[in-house]
Amino acid sequence: MTNARVTNAEIGVIGGSGFYSFLEDVTEIQVDTPYGSPSDSLFLGEIAGRRVAFLPRHGRGHHLPPHRINYRANLWALRSVGVRQVLGPCAVGGLRPEYGPGTLLVPDQLVDRTKSRVQTFYDGYPLPDGSVPNVVHVALADPYCPEGRKAALSAARGRDWEPVDGGTLVVIEGPRFSTRAESRWHAAMGWSVVGMTGHPEAVLARELGLCYTTMTLVTDLDAGAETGEGVSHEEVLRVFAANVDRLRSVLFDAVAALPTGERDCLCTRALEGLDTGIRLP
Ligand SMILES: [Zn+2]
Repeated sequence: MTNARVTNAEIGVIGGSGFYSFLEDVTEIQVDTPYGSPSDSLFLGEIAGRRVAFLPRHGRGHHLPPHRINYRANLWALRSVGVRQVLGPCAVGGLRPEYGPGTLLVPDQLVDRTKSRVQTFYDGYPLPDGSVPNVVHVALADPYCPEGRKAALSAARGRDWEPVDGGTLVVIEGPRFSTRAESRWHAAMGWSVVGMTGHPEAVLARELGLCYTTMTLVTDLDAGAETGEGVSHEEVLRVFAANVDRLRSVLFDAVAALPTGERDCLCTRALEGLDTGIRLP
């Protein structure tokens, strides 16, 4: 099958280059947005008959730290090629001893502890086309797509990787890791895993009416949950590398398991009755 000239996609995957680099017939396209440039080109390909746009979150070569990623441009770019469902896997630290390295957790809740990130499209600043976003308040009580979560969980089970179903992802500003006190506090609040990129991806997806699901891979125990020297970057990379093939298989199965046709989940109704003031791509 040839899909060499495919320029649209229905599913977006925001993650590392390990997720698409081996796909055949990948089409690379550059997309500009009213909010600036995304982290990199979009790489369009096909998995199980589904058209997918891959976007390396940190850019190829991993040059963008979490706080400098243009999250708005990333989500806008995906939507502009037709994407309506997004999977955004990320590496995290475990906040409980039982969530050790290699744990796959599919969160159902999110806590924002970032400090400097723009987290809305509706900021009142005019777009290049002259339109001005209105003030829009979307519901985020349930930040993740229930259908996407189902697909992720069943995909993991199908690969004999029993996932943790539900939990709270707390997102910190980074790029530094947490202090021991911060980490113990996060754990004491009952939160499950800690990462640096899960926010504002989920809220921006919701603001565009996109389905968004994250799957978190625990690469280390966070400082408050272990007794050694604390997290090192090398440790994170080592565990991630050891699991990347496995995660890719689960991710691809999740892509195949996402609903087809008309979506019927809360994400699709996020903008119902709201006047955004701008034309979504
Ligand atoms: Zn949804």
